[in-house]
Amino acid sequence: MNAEQAWQATLGQLQMEMSKPAYDTWVRDACLLSCEGENIIVGVKNAYICDWLETRLIDTITRKVTALMERPMLVHFIVNTKDQSSEQENPDTVLTQRVQINPCNHNTLNGRYTFSEFVVAGNNRLAHAAALSVVENPSHSYNPLFIYGDVGLGKTHLLQAIGHAIQEAGRRVLFVTSEEFTNDLICAIMGHSTTEFREKFRTIDVLLVDDIQFIAGKDSTQEEFFHTFNALHDQGKQIVITSDRPPRAIGTLELRLRSRFEWGLIADLQPPDYETRIAILNRKTERMGRLIPDEVIDLIARCIQNNIRELEGALNRLCAYADLIGAVIDQALAKTALSDYITQQQSVNPEHIMGVVANAFGVEMDRLVGRERTQDIALPRQVAMYLLREETHQSLPQIGQTLGGRDHTTVMYACDKVAGLIENDDRVRSRIIAIREQLYARASLPV
Ligand code: ADP
Ligand code: MG
Repeated sequence: MNAEQAWQATLGQLQMEMSKPAYDTWVRDACLLSCEGENIIVGVKNAYICDWLETRLIDTITRKVTALMERPMLVHFIVNTKDQSSEQENPDTVLTQRVQINPCNHNTLNGRYTFSEFVVAGNNRLAHAAALSVVENPSHSYNPLFIYGDVGLGKTHLLQAIGHAIQEAGRRVLFVTSEEFTNDLICAIMGHSTTEFREKFRTIDVLLVDDIQFIAGKDSTQEEFFHTFNALHDQGKQIVITSDRPPRAIGTLELRLRSRFEWGLIADLQPPDYETRIAILNRKTERMGRLIPDEVIDLIARCIQNNIRELEGALNRLCAYADLIGAVIDQALAKTALSDYITQQQSVNPEHIMGVVANAFGVEMDRLVGRERTQDIALPRQVAMYLLREETHQSLPQIGQTLGGRDHTTVMYACDKVAGLIENDDRVRSRIIAIREQLYARASLPV
């Protein structure tokens, strides 16, 4: 069997073995891009699919292809953004075209992602300070600097801000996503140009790698990255890495890489609190030259809490909607334009929050609203107040009511205290992240 036949047969077998939704989501659109020697390159639509296949299915696929081709094969997945639907040409030319398209011309920094556009607040203060210190004193302060946080919290922005500042200082900087690194490496292997590849990555002053989590499970990429890392680090060059989780939580990351990622400083980005969301929205509206009433800003900030990209998206959507229908932006218009976000928000109701908090701390719900003031109930109660303030539309007095008729100043004190703990106490912070995840995990289930 040739590679294309083997690949089609593999797809056929997978279709029989997997559920239809799983097959359609992860496998159906994967296509054979090239086969050279023992290497089979399969293109997929995006990084998530690539990641999923790398972690869940690579062994199965390798086994099948190897059996069908009757010789040991190595399967590589790469993100192939070129549209595949409109191609009718001779498959051979398509293959070479695709492979030639793949080496990325990166190093394109987004002009908007600078330090001056980055709003600094409690949720990102540490990461921001570390980023600045890397710019002022590359490879002396923290090397590597490892920044992690959920999607939409500013990792790419901060990383690129470092890139701009380093470039302005006249140093050579290379910004890549870990998929670009992988793609480049594969192309270098296929094109017998690994020396150029190494040179490109090892003759710079600062290497910025975005979303490193995607190299987990990719053995040859990890191997190459390990050597790149060492070569740069040994020459005293700065490395900054971002990820959606801390090194220890990246499954199938080689131990030696993980330990290197932990050599320097690990800084996290947390979801922005209410004040930060307001500050970011105000900054964006200023930049857009828009006048938007405070109550509308407040509405957006309350609706969207865990993702700054969505926060911006909501603002843009509202402005576009207002322009489209030629109306002035007010609360009523905002409610219409943002109705999707608002219904989503309402699914986290106060009782649900209280239940999840009580459960997380192992205390009974009625103790949260009770009169007791012992230490073991004080913190859960304060966390409940904080989350009610952050995650619902309740006012301070309403939150006081929900928690057994407490005064609004008590609620305010609790919110400040918990916000302070989140900033300074890793244990409390990770606990609250876990509680938040649980809140949304349940809320997003279809009813
Ligand atoms: P991530 O890489 O963590 O998914 P991004 O860096 O792409 O997130 O940020 C998402 C959007 O939110 C970007 O448009 C970015 O400019 C904006 N953003 C994130 N953090 C901030 C901040 N602190 N101040 C201003 N804008 C921010
Ligand atoms: Mg990003």
